[in-house]
Amino acid sequence: VNARTPLIAGNWKLNLDHLQAVALVQKLHWALKDAGHEEGSVDVAVFPPFTDLRSVQTLLDADKIPFLLGAQDLSTHDDGAYTGEISGAFLKRLNVAQVIIGHSERREYHAETDEVVAAKVQAALRHGLVPVICVGETSEDLEKHGASAVPVGQLEKALADVPAGADVVVAYEPVWAIGSGQAATPQQAQEVAAKLREVVAATLGADTAAKTRVLYGGSVKSSNIASFMREPDVDGALVGGASLKVDEFAAIIRFQK
Ligand code: PEP
Repeated sequence: VNARTPLIAGNWKLNLDHLQAVALVQKLHWALKDAGHEEGSVDVAVFPPFTDLRSVQTLLDADKIPFLLGAQDLSTHDDGAYTGEISGAFLKRLNVAQVIIGHSERREYHAETDEVVAAKVQAALRHGLVPVICVGETSEDLEKHGASAVPVGQLEKALADVPAGADVVVAYEPVWAIGSGQAATPQQAQEVAAKLREVVAATLGADTAAKTRVLYGGSVKSSNIASFMREPDVDGALVGGASLKVDEFAAIIRFQK
């Protein structure tokens, strides 16, 4: 039996200013309430741009909206002369619970290496933030090495110096599936998710691996979420585009296996 609470995480990327973000969170909360969604059956997390975090945090607190607040990135540093960076300490002060690390867009457009990703995982854990560690293969990797080799290698490097028992989330996101409308098959997601869980077991311990949520991400929508959630090692989804639409994201959260 899979005892892991499903996690549906919305990565808004560079979309929605703080007013739009607040409006979307409010609408999503009411859409779920109207639909009779049972709070607690699924963990819902939203990952707005940095400039929205304070406004969204205030709304979640004031209206007792049970969403987890997430950030899309953080600095490897905690403070100092690092212009433009945001530290894990600042995120923690805003009740941020989770932080996306190593998203393929950061690996590609900001040249984030596995070493930088590993340092960011350490920075998140130092401040009590749960790193949502993104790994995934490009279409070229898929052709050359199959689906799992690259994501497994990326996760091994990200977790190499992480202590046993650490609280992390792993997101398997095939790069070719992100924003393309072409999701992986549930079978591929399951196969790679199972291998990623083995990496967690080897690095953080078997008990931790049994508790760690492995998400699938890449063109998840309301019409395919259930097929992923039926897989034993897929514990949720990291959702990009579809998390910007209230009804669609609510339907994803309300998936029925
Ligand atoms: C993502 O960027 O994490 C993602 C999965 O995007 P999309 O859902 O739009 O494919």
